Amino acid sequence: MQNYTRQPIALKRGDGAVVYDVDGNQYIDCLAGIAVNNVGHCHPYVVHAIKKQAEQLIHVSNLYYTEIQTELAEKLVELTEMDRIFFCNSGAEAIESAMKLARSVSNKTDFVATEQSFHGRTMGSLSVTHKEKFRRPFTPLIQGATFVPYNDSQAIAESITKNTAAVIIEPIQGEGGVNIPSGDYLREVRKICDDTDTLLIFDEVQTGFGRTGEWFCKQHSGVQPDIMAMAKAMGGGFPMGAIASKKGITFDKGEHASTFGGNPLACAASLGAIKAIEEESLVQHSKELGDYFVERLKSLSREDVVDVRGQGLMIGVELKSGCKDILNYARENGVLLNCTSDSVLRLVPPLVITREQIDRVVDIIEQA
Ligand code: PLP
Repeated sequence: MQNYTRQPIALKRGDGAVVYDVDGNQYIDCLAGIAVNNVGHCHPYVVHAIKKQAEQLIHVSNLYYTEIQTELAEKLVELTEMDRIFFCNSGAEAIESAMKLARSVSNKTDFVATEQSFHGRTMGSLSVTHKEKFRRPFTPLIQGATFVPYNDSQAIAESITKNTAAVIIEPIQGEGGVNIPSGDYLREVRKICDDTDTLLIFDEVQTGFGRTGEWFCKQHSGVQPDIMAMAKAMGGGFPMGAIASKKGITFDKGEHASTFGGNPLACAASLGAIKAIEEESLVQHSKELGDYFVERLKSLSREDVVDVRGQGLMIGVELKSGCKDILNYARENGVLLNCTSDSVLRLVPPLVITREQIDRVVDIIEQA
């Protein structure tokens, strides 16, 4: 099917922050599978974990326990400081799970989401995704979603009604253009939700697992959501998603399920990725190299650049015009870039990227 607009290269292998195409050309990967390959391509811990688990047990039903799923759940409870984990297989599925959980525990139906939000392509997650282009062919979607401007807590306060089950927010908007809210925004939203008995869902699908210079982006504001969605980098490249929730916020028996959710192979990959992030101090590395990257990008010509913004290695360069020519030039010169919201270069490289590789990327962007 022709739903993807693909770049004209075919990739064959990867190592750290570099990928190689079928003709042997190499590229510094500043997209990382869209914020997935945080530990780099084919990290030995992830590869070893998958190999070892594949020889032991690849899949069993959630009608049974496995040690490895329990081990990962315990690790996620520790990292997120939440109480319960439900495993699934993708970001959109994590959002679906979060929305269902919110409806189930609140006995309310509606959601308040933000403009420029992106939460996924399934019918539920699309209902709280703002962009008209993604929604139009699929209406009617789930009823009861209201969109308010991002970074405007007052607008959230005014939109919550007695039917609002939850407010759903990306702590930094990714697809919407790497939009970073002001320091108090998330704290104000938390208070509004507390005052109105409304659940708060954070979508950390793109911002999780060290991407922004903390394990999870919520830590920058100190705000604890009631439900948190994660995926992308969670499996070190292996498809996986999950939601974490606070004490008392949980599905009843039989309310929700996933055949593959928390599958042994995915859990092994995830534990391998988490070990790599911990042992190689990649959260700290993300913060330091992110600061360096942003500083270097700020030296780009102001004639072309509207804004450079970033937290850790989640960086946006807003351009005055579209980015297509820059993407093509960069690719032809060994750098893979991504454009979002028409004119924002989104830089989300593997967290293992080096200073030298960052220097090379900035030089290529400058030339382009
Ligand atoms: N939420 C956010 C913030 C995302 O960035 C994405 C994907 O880009 C999703 C949800 C959906 O994730 P998936 O593509 O794994 O379904």
